[in-house]
Amino acid sequence: MGSEPNHATVLRKRIHIQGVVQGVGFRPFVYELAMANRLAGWVRNSSEGVFIEVEGPADRLESFEEDLRNRRPVLAQVDRVQVTDIPQQGARDFVILESAQVTGEFVLVPPDIATCAECYEDFTDPANRRYQHPFTNCTNCGPRYTIIRDIPYDRPATTMVEFPMCRECRGEYENPADRRFHAQPNACPQCGPALSAPIEQAQSWLREGKVVAIKGLGGFHLACDATNGEAVRRLRERKRRSDKPFAIMAPDLGAVERWCEVSPADREALECPRRPIAILPRRPGTVISDAVAPGNKTIGVMLPYTPLHHLLFEGAGGRFEALVMTSGNVSEEPIVSREEELPRLASLYDEVLTHNRKIHTRVDDSVVRTFEREVRVVRRSRGYAPQPVRLAFEMAPALGAGGELKNTFCLTKQRYAILSQHIGDLENLETLEFFHETLSHMKRFYRIEPEVVGYDLHPGYLSTRAALEMQGVQKVGVQHHHAHIASCMAENGLRERVIGVSLDGTGYGTDGQIWGGEFLVCDFLGFERCLHFRYVPLAGGDAAVREPWRMALSYARDAFGQSLPEQLFERIDPRRRAIVEAMLARRVNTVLTSSCGRLFDAVASLIGLRDETNYEGQAAIELEAAAEDGVESRYGFELSDADVDLRPAIAEIVAEVRKGTGAGKIAASFHNTVVAVIVEACRRTRDSHGLKKVCLSGGTFQNFYLLGRVVEGLRQAGFEVYLHSQVPANDGGIALGQAVVAAEAARR
Ligand code: ZN
Ligand code: ZN
Ligand code: FE
Repeated sequence: MGSEPNHATVLRKRIHIQGVVQGVGFRPFVYELAMANRLAGWVRNSSEGVFIEVEGPADRLESFEEDLRNRRPVLAQVDRVQVTDIPQQGARDFVILESAQVTGEFVLVPPDIATCAECYEDFTDPANRRYQHPFTNCTNCGPRYTIIRDIPYDRPATTMVEFPMCRECRGEYENPADRRFHAQPNACPQCGPALSAPIEQAQSWLREGKVVAIKGLGGFHLACDATNGEAVRRLRERKRRSDKPFAIMAPDLGAVERWCEVSPADREALECPRRPIAILPRRPGTVISDAVAPGNKTIGVMLPYTPLHHLLFEGAGGRFEALVMTSGNVSEEPIVSREEELPRLASLYDEVLTHNRKIHTRVDDSVVRTFEREVRVVRRSRGYAPQPVRLAFEMAPALGAGGELKNTFCLTKQRYAILSQHIGDLENLETLEFFHETLSHMKRFYRIEPEVVGYDLHPGYLSTRAALEMQGVQKVGVQHHHAHIASCMAENGLRERVIGVSLDGTGYGTDGQIWGGEFLVCDFLGFERCLHFRYVPLAGGDAAVREPWRMALSYARDAFGQSLPEQLFERIDPRRRAIVEAMLARRVNTVLTSSCGRLFDAVASLIGLRDETNYEGQAAIELEAAAEDGVESRYGFELSDADVDLRPAIAEIVAEVRKGTGAGKIAASFHNTVVAVIVEACRRTRDSHGLKKVCLSGGTFQNFYLLGRVVEGLRQAGFEVYLHSQVPANDGGIALGQAVVAAEAARR
């Protein structure tokens, strides 16, 4: 026998593929590749991933394997391909086999996917049987995570089990050459779900200025005409939401470009199959009501992601410029996803447009922003969850319980970190129930029984209490800011010691104080607190968060002592001020804080921008919005052995206010000061520890004026800078860090 491969010899290979390969059109894709390469064999889904056996001449097998490695359906994520040679069986054709039930292993559940271009074509073609059908989908698009009840992903394990397919739909479903082959939510006007009211009816409600509860993919939206200021203000009043921005939905990209500046990266984010809400710089003077995002220079916009959305904009009763589409929930409760829960929203909406396809798992819209041409996830939910974050190392099964605000949790297995969808602020029973319901759901899906749980040190957090109540797992307390940096490290594949700059509003410190302006040196095993913002008293707990003037007073007292310029606080009610002064002087009902968020609050109040807030982060957001471009000046500060002293900056800001300097210039100079502090603190840490990798995390880095300048300053100073992208920089991302730190602690 020669050493040349004999191309006529028939070989058979068994290929095992792991990753996000179910519910993303993977089997039809494999079928097509097998057809194109004229190979025989089969493909099958199992709870361990996709298995393929292919048989044919060596050269065609090789080209099949190459195709398999280089091409994939849009939302598939291939993490592992194992190929083994097996004896040939003389197979003649290629078939798709029924899913195999295997227990003990796990597959990854795909996220929900926006209507694809081909389905949109079906939907807009008057000759197509799915013309204007609001539930059109195929193997490349449609609901997934929200309708899946169990694994493997097959129709009986979804909420579509209630809709027996008609003859035509079944034909598509069973035809390997069809785009709807094994599309589990496949449906048509004859056999599929139906709307509760004609679309024209819903459109006329919206045109009349009414608030309509509309059932979407992961829950109900509250919708109204975004160009109708009165309608938007009515929705605000009912939701008791004074200023927090509403997201809007635009009919198409052209409309978004009329109201916002859209970079190529933003455009990609808006149009990608995940269809998140993208935060975009807003153009002045558009048809969008100012009541949509008062005091904001940006606006959150998304494009239609279900055929029902397209119908709302394009149906005969049509043409809205834009619709407000805000989550259907009561203040901070989870999004309502079932008709039975609608009474909870009774005071919020006028009319309902629902349908009879059940939502098994509720999922809010995701929110992203782009920076340096990359998507930065701000809220990780629909379209992203439960797609895993790939880790650079294998991990024991662990759980990160998450924080209090913007809670998500994180489960790990092998090289995957699976973050839950956005659960919300764990401050009420409903949200806590949502946490537990989602946790047990995901543990079952992924067959994960955590051996260790990482939790926040704050004893009052409901996520912490939930973790401490768990039985039969090791428990590891993880400091909040350590978790932030560990999360950034994990997502960037770092394992070595780094400098961590963790800036945010609140995190329980190991000394019992409230941290939030932290410069750490850390790895997964531990951290050293190298520098922090100078402690100031925080008077009156939560009230200090809602009333930035309290922090302004605290900072001003710290900077001026008894020589505080009295006129600074003339506008504050003297009695309320006296109470806070007493707290500060006697240190009653106060804790110490190094919070960066509270520093921004203080400055926003000192320069007269905002004394009281009605949503989280409002003062800091407005301070960022106020900062003028083209300002290079900055204020003074001092670094001591342990802390960053900003009293010189506070004194200068007060002097500028009294001189009548504009808020825009002061806001910019203040931002520049924080940039200089960060660069200087990192330099010092580099000198003392010999490190040059810097991870930036914490909610403060959602401030893009700051982020852009910090990244530039650090790079100029020779640092390697690592940022978040797939995982939020805010508290929605700490669960990942908790899980990794806890697993590492357990390993030792
Ligand atoms: Zn499709
Ligand atoms: Zn049908
Ligand atoms: Fe935080």
